[in-house]
Amino acid sequence: KKRYLVGGNWKSNGSVTFVRDMINNVLNKMKFEESKLEVVIAPMIIHVPSAKAMLHSHLHVCAQNIAAEGKKAQTGEVKAEQVQDFGLKWAIVGHSERRQHYLESNELVAEKVKRCQECHLTAIVCIGERLEEREAGQTHDVLKQQLDAVKASVKDWSRIVIAYEPVWAIGTGKTASPEIAQEAHEFIRKWIQGSVSDAVANATRIIYGGSVSDANAESLITQKDIDGFLVGGASLTEKFGTIVETVN
Ligand code: 13P
Repeated sequence: KKRYLVGGNWKSNGSVTFVRDMINNVLNKMKFEESKLEVVIAPMIIHVPSAKAMLHSHLHVCAQNIAAEGKKAQTGEVKAEQVQDFGLKWAIVGHSERRQHYLESNELVAEKVKRCQECHLTAIVCIGERLEEREAGQTHDVLKQQLDAVKASVKDWSRIVIAYEPVWAIGTGKTASPEIAQEAHEFIRKWIQGSVSDAVANATRIIYGGSVSDANAESLITQKDIDGFLVGGASLTEKFGTIVETVN
């Protein structure tokens, strides 16, 4: 069985005090077996250096976003090289909030995946359908388009994690049922099988995100094709420790 992965995506939350307290009181106290589970924490970029200094070394720091290729100066952006230079090995790419509110297209997400590959960052590539797309029966088409777009950017699949985050489940308290999540994960794994190889399909971690909590972690993680979680709201509380222990 592959190693599980649990990520905490702090989004644009927190303060200097929050970061310090969350790390000392919750994250550094979590107990899990590194052979079974990897844990990554994605703070706001401004808190990355202090979080990295405070976190125990078995907890990895992850960027929430990186810049796409740009020939010109890019005010406000952080490049994959700079994330790498700080000693980070992980970045989230294509989060639905970036797709929706910052107009990131499938093509732009693909460029960012390429930048991660060039800088040896493991990319947590977020995909997922919106409510109206699910209701119109387009979930598979949307996932396929999102996956097809990034395929050409990937040379090293060992540095790719797919996060299935149905947009309607993010921050809404409406978690996908274990059956709905499993069905989407299975579709994603079959896409990898058909588009890359059996070996890569078996080895690639497909994690679920969208209102994961201490209450639903157990029923989701026991699904065959769910290899971990990307946790938003609950990663800002002690519930994150419970989720990590449940997966472990
Ligand atoms: P919530 O867990 O708050 O629904 O957020 C999920 C998410 O977007 C993680 O990237």
